[in-house]
Amino acid sequence: MRTDDFRHQGLRRQLVELLKKKGIASDKVLAAIGKVPRHLFIDDTAFERFAYVDQAFPIGCGQTISQPYTVAFQSELLQLKPGEKVLEIGTGCGYQTAILCELGAKVYSIERHRPLYLATKARLVAMGFRATLVHGDGYKGLPVHAPFNKVIVTCGAPEIPQALLDQLVIGGRLVIPVGGEGRQSMITVERTANGMERQEHGAFSFVPMVEKKSGG
Ligand code: SAH
Repeated sequence: MRTDDFRHQGLRRQLVELLKKKGIASDKVLAAIGKVPRHLFIDDTAFERFAYVDQAFPIGCGQTISQPYTVAFQSELLQLKPGEKVLEIGTGCGYQTAILCELGAKVYSIERHRPLYLATKARLVAMGFRATLVHGDGYKGLPVHAPFNKVIVTCGAPEIPQALLDQLVIGGRLVIPVGGEGRQSMITVERTANGMERQEHGAFSFVPMVEKKSGG
C-alpha cells in the first residue's frame, strides 16, 4: 500500500510555490495541486521522486503525464465553477482528471488507449475520485452526455474538432492545444450566442491527438 506522507506533502508545497512563481494565480487551482498526490499517478515507485519536479513523465503506451505547470495553466484557463460539467479528452494516468474533480467539477474523461483507460479507472476509484471514464475517440466528444460547460483537451490537436465545439453550452469554454507534432498553441474558444471567440495563450508541447480508439 503506497502512502502520502509528510515528505510528499512538503514536496507538493514546494511545487505550489514554484507554480506561483511561474505565474499560476488561481488559489483554487494551487490548492488542488497542493492536495492531489501526484506521486500515486506514477506506477513505478523507483520514479516517485520525479513526481514533484515540474516536468512531464512517461506513463506507458508511449504517453506522458503532463507537466504540473501545464495542468495548472489549462485548469486556470477553464475558469471552472463547482458543479460544472467538464469533458476531458486524453485521460492518460488521470492526474488532470483528479485535479478537475478536486475543483468540484462533474468530470467525464475519454482515453483512446484501452490499457490506460482500464488502469486509470481502477486507480481513480481506489483513490476515491469520482469521474465518468470512457474508452473512446475524443474527436467525437461524448454526445450522450452533452452539452458541457467546459471541454479540456490534453493532447495536441492538428485542428479544433467541430464535435467538441458543438457539445459546448452557450457561454461554455474549450481549452485545447492546437498545432503539429511537438509544438502547439494553447487556444481557448468561448461559445457565445453570436458565435465563437478564440484566444491564444502561448506555446506548449503535447503528445498528439490521434483519431480512433485502440485496443478493442
Ligand atoms: N491528462 C493527462 C495527459 C495524458 S497525455 C495527464 O493528466 O497527465 C494525453 C493522452 O491523450 C494520452 O493518454 C493519449 O492516449 C490520449 N489521446 C490521444 N488522442 C486521443 C483521442 N482521440 N481520444 C482520446 N484520448 C486521446
